[in-house]
Amino acid sequence: MKRYRVEAELASPLVIRRERQSQRSEGAQSITGTLLRGAFAQAWLQRHGAPDASFRRLFLDEHACRFGPLDPAVRVIPRTAFSCKRVPGFREDGKHGVVDQLVPLLRSRLGQTSAEPERCRVCGQDLKAFSGFWQLKSNGEPTEPKGLWRRTVAVHVGIDRLTHTAAEKVLFNLPVLEPQAPPAGEASRLHGWIAAADDVLPALQELLRDQEQILRIGHARTRGYGRVRVTIGEEVPAAAVDWSAWSREMLRHSAPQLAAEERYFLFSLSLPTGAILVDALLRYTLDPAGMVPWLPPLPPPNPTLRVFDLPGKEFAGGRLWCVTAVTSHDRLRGWNVAHGLPRQDEWLVTRGSVYVYLYEGDKSGQAELHAKLRELEADGLGARRNEGFGQVLICDDFHRRFSPQLSVVTP
Ligand SMILES: [Zn+2]
Repeated sequence: MKRYRVEAELASPLVIRRERQSQRSEGAQSITGTLLRGAFAQAWLQRHGAPDASFRRLFLDEHACRFGPLDPAVRVIPRTAFSCKRVPGFREDGKHGVVDQLVPLLRSRLGQTSAEPERCRVCGQDLKAFSGFWQLKSNGEPTEPKGLWRRTVAVHVGIDRLTHTAAEKVLFNLPVLEPQAPPAGEASRLHGWIAAADDVLPALQELLRDQEQILRIGHARTRGYGRVRVTIGEEVPAAAVDWSAWSREMLRHSAPQLAAEERYFLFSLSLPTGAILVDALLRYTLDPAGMVPWLPPLPPPNPTLRVFDLPGKEFAGGRLWCVTAVTSHDRLRGWNVAHGLPRQDEWLVTRGSVYVYLYEGDKSGQAELHAKLRELEADGLGARRNEGFGQVLICDDFHRRFSPQLSVVTP
């Protein structure tokens, strides 16, 4: 499968049922991969009729096609990010700046004294967790898109099912997301991706052409809502992060005594789209080790415990430890569109969750580990990957870019 960029513009207001939304705020800014896949599937059924082998390949085979979420920017802010309580956001957007707290976390777990808690470098206020989406502008500066959509409520008159006239006293409210007029010169686009096998991509393109690029997404589609203009663009190039350089730099700031030795390799594993993880007994878990047998388990939640107090796990003649994890669960409310009934809720490891692992081993062990990580990045992790869940990002350069020790203090 190759990964392709997807761009979307709202052509009409969108209704997404509350029970499908995340508790976190990005739920209101994004269209889930589940909804995008559903919209493509509906277009397919309209054109071809009953589902056949080709339908199953497009919408049910996660090794042939995966639909990522549509977000206001291409990158997800990790759960290690913090910003000023009063004026949160990037310096470059005129806000008080973003700091990533991964290095301080690693320091305490790797035997360094922990530094004073960071405060806002502009106004001295406390920092608070900072979530959402970001991307680099063409000049290389980070930015956070804001205010794409406005939340409103539409009041509707119910239609009597028997007489097809307005039913007396039947009024109902729908939560609606309305596209905002974008700032001059900017289009309010949503960004996502589709991973598709070579034979699948033309079928998706044909479906879009057939619909004049307009898919109907979300609920209340029959009432004129949810028209979204969707285009599939070029292939997404592989992320160009040098993992060894990432490891050296992060270790230099979090554990200088290990950075000098070549037998240590530190890496992060992030879940930008969230993941549905279960353990060997099919219980929901926060631990990727439940699904990746060669990964060590999460450390016990004891802040005084250091990494080397734990046994770790043997890997390719060396040892692998989980250093820390910044993660949480979110209830993923289910809705069976076909039956119009709720389905069983699942537990999602939230978007932006970060895990960090340390390997101690020789060059060949490290090479074997790199190969495993490349595999993991390509395959993803956990259940419902064709709805975009379980995307894996190794060594997110966000942590290097916004690490407090590395950021330059400008007056
Ligand atoms: Zn501030």
